[in-house]
Amino acid sequence: MDIPEKFRALRVQEQDGKYITQIEEMETSSLPEHDTIIKVYFSSLNYKDALSASGNKGVTKNFPHTPGIDAAGIVLKTNSDNFKVGDEVLVTGYDLGMNTPGGYGELISVPSQWATKLPAGMNMRESMIYGTAGLTAGLSIDKLIRAGVKPENGPVLVTGASGGVGSVAVAILSALGYETFASSGKKSAEDFLKKVGAKEIISRDSLLENANRPLLKEQWAGVVDTCGGEILASVLKSCKYSGSVTTCGLVSGMNLNTTVFPFILRDVNLLGIDSVELPLERKVTIWNKLAHDWSSEKLESLATYCTLEELPKYIDEILKGQIQGRVVVDLH
Ligand code: NDP
Repeated sequence: MDIPEKFRALRVQEQDGKYITQIEEMETSSLPEHDTIIKVYFSSLNYKDALSASGNKGVTKNFPHTPGIDAAGIVLKTNSDNFKVGDEVLVTGYDLGMNTPGGYGELISVPSQWATKLPAGMNMRESMIYGTAGLTAGLSIDKLIRAGVKPENGPVLVTGASGGVGSVAVAILSALGYETFASSGKKSAEDFLKKVGAKEIISRDSLLENANRPLLKEQWAGVVDTCGGEILASVLKSCKYSGSVTTCGLVSGMNLNTTVFPFILRDVNLLGIDSVELPLERKVTIWNKLAHDWSSEKLESLATYCTLEELPKYIDEILKGQIQGRVVVDLH
């Protein structure tokens, strides 16, 4: 397959202390020298992409830069023995879109160790409805299950439920037979969350009632928390005896202010989730579950599609916590 000499990308530039996005035509020779070049067909929008696009130096140190921590596409060149030219592959996490030009460009150049073949039964578009958010939801649910959380143990809760990680988690948990409660700050997201599979919606504010108490009424057999901060502190207090809570995000804050009581009086487990540096084999295990045992017929209802030109509007929205479900970027 021919490798084009130029390609389009959504670039972020620093101008007078502000970060602006624009579509640019790039030389393929400007990409970093890695052993695999991929023509990107689909990417997706995650909270971290918006942090990169708005100049967060914890995510991206040097600008101009092409964000996009997710990419699904076709191999144009590779030295890897694991796949060949023409294969459909998927890259999520590692350094893609952070300090390596990412999936908001029509071409990426990456180490082959970051890429995996698309799981059988999943197409490139579907893989980007999941994207890093879906992988993170899958990892969270996998850890809850491995910690012994079963549907018969009682209701489970997803926080930040209308967002990317949250909405995929609601869809999978409800498909697996869990009585799934969804906590959301958006009144307008109720119909969406019910359609995705939530049994009941509870407001974000109600989670914080009596939050100064050391323990709250036991309610949840398991929690997928995507918010961190005071929300995570509160759900730890309302977790049932021997229940488990996963933590992946920080939209509500990076500090965790808690006593040890949930852990030493209720045997609660706090389980950390990292989808970025996780060994590829673990990612592949979760991708295969997403493609088969955990596949949800609700997947399509999570997706909003956009072009590179339309993407900046959604970047603004995700920074304001206004996105519902997953935004898939169509680059072909
Ligand atoms: P989204 O923006 O799509 O979803 C976040 C949701 O959190 C929002 O939709 C909103 O849902 C809720 N929210 C927004 N602002 C606040 C606030 N101030 N307080 C409480 N809740 C709020 O982001 P993603 O789903 O892509 O990511 C969620 C988090 O997980 C982020 O912090 C992200 O960085 C992290 N993450 C971590 C990964 C890892 O590997 N550890 C991988 C992927 C994501 P609602 O209105 O329904 O409450």
